[in-house]
Amino acid sequence: MDFDLSQDEKLFKQAVHEFLSKELAPIWSDMDSKKTIPTDLLHRMGEQGLFAIPVPEEYGGQGGNFTLATLAVEEVAYNDPAVATAVFTLLNNAWPYILYLYGAEEAKQKILPAVGKGRGFFGIASTEPTGGSDVAGERTSATKNGNIYRVTGEKVYISGVRESMEQLDIGSWYLIARTSPEPGHKSLTGFAFIGNDGGRRPEGFEYGILNTIGRHAISTGTLKFNNTPVEDRYVVGQEGRGFYIAMEGFSLARVLVSAANIGAAQWALETAISYSRERRLFGDRPIASYEGVSFPIAEVASRLEAARLLVYKAAQMADKIYVKKEPGLRPHDLDYWASTAKIEAVETAMTAAEVLMKTYGALSYTEEANVFRNLLGVLSYFVGAEGTQNIMRYIVARELIGKDYLKG
Ligand SMILES: Cc1cc2nc3c(=O)[nH]c(=O)nc-3n(C[C@H](O)[C@H](O)[C@H](O)COP(=O)(O)OP(=O)(O)OC[C@H]3O[C@@H](n4cnc5c(N)ncnc54)[C@H](O)[C@@H]3O)c2cc1C
Repeated sequence: MDFDLSQDEKLFKQAVHEFLSKELAPIWSDMDSKKTIPTDLLHRMGEQGLFAIPVPEEYGGQGGNFTLATLAVEEVAYNDPAVATAVFTLLNNAWPYILYLYGAEEAKQKILPAVGKGRGFFGIASTEPTGGSDVAGERTSATKNGNIYRVTGEKVYISGVRESMEQLDIGSWYLIARTSPEPGHKSLTGFAFIGNDGGRRPEGFEYGILNTIGRHAISTGTLKFNNTPVEDRYVVGQEGRGFYIAMEGFSLARVLVSAANIGAAQWALETAISYSRERRLFGDRPIASYEGVSFPIAEVASRLEAARLLVYKAAQMADKIYVKKEPGLRPHDLDYWASTAKIEAVETAMTAAEVLMKTYGALSYTEEANVFRNLLGVLSYFVGAEGTQNIMRYIVARELIGKDYLKG
């Protein structure tokens, strides 16, 4: 059992770190207060090979794997601990891979090269106003007439809406819609829905931007469909497979969400350590000399070490299933590891943010200190986004105890 990264992985992580410490770290808090990621930064991140990492090069990806994607997302969040750029990066690694696996050739050729260059976006449009946890209960409909589906419904809390619609050449999502009236998950189908194709928008499609409380640099918005046409070559997989494909995508995305959270937690830990050395009280003693300050920092460090191993383990499992295609493993085998990783990584990042705020004292409560941006960023993954923490616990319990025992 080797707990270390390979030499190539270490070199990759170091190269990403050096690039982002120049390009991202100096501007992350400014981006958060201005509520935007500069378009040219996204282009440069694309040139650096940070998007579509597991997608083969023939489709404009980097021909890498999920371990490298995990290391990249971890570094992005370390250098933008409000996690906005990490959200952009993780979505544009997990969901393009789903399109690569199941999409039709034309949809892949249209979307994936743009994503790889940082000039396109392919995220997830699942959540509806009636509730995000119950994916099988989604109501957006897609009715087929000839080779065109007409989509009607609404998606909410969707990441990357402004970037997709106003900043990039291609803005697209894995859109889940009901293609037959029967209730339940078997009538859901996935589409590669393009909301922005070089400035052109499909008819009957509108978007909006929500006022969120954190990770401001990436937008969270709404997508509304009113008889919106989607050609059948943009179906991902077959009709009726949309739920199953979404579950695969969510598990892959959760590995990278976990990576974002350990990156942000590492930043919070190091920032708390620095401040605990600098702040001097009670006769010029550093506050680090008090166990009430130093022990919570030590606890964050130990939880973070454990969470990081779990996240890397989940990434390795994704590679075994999808990249190495090890016999006997199925996509479903990732669910347990992705969910345990998300539980631990997100809750460690929340604790790290809390410890950082307490270490800073009142200063943390000012805008100038910027540490609140980290708390509000990781909070998005504590309350929702790629499945709530309760849903992660449900998945872990289901895998351990058995689905039949968990039915209400
Ligand atoms: C910043 C942000 C960005 C997001 N980006 C996207 C995106 O890009 N695409 C997208 O599709 N969605 C996105 N979401 C939505 C996210 O995936 C949902 O928040 C999540 O799926 C939960 O749905 P909900 O918020 O409607 O809560 P609900 O499903 O209404 O749940 C409410 C509460 O009940 C709990 N609960 C529900 N069911 C159960 C159960 N069976 N057992 C125990 N507890 C339960 C939940 O854990 C939660 O605490 C985003 C959310 C946020 C906050």
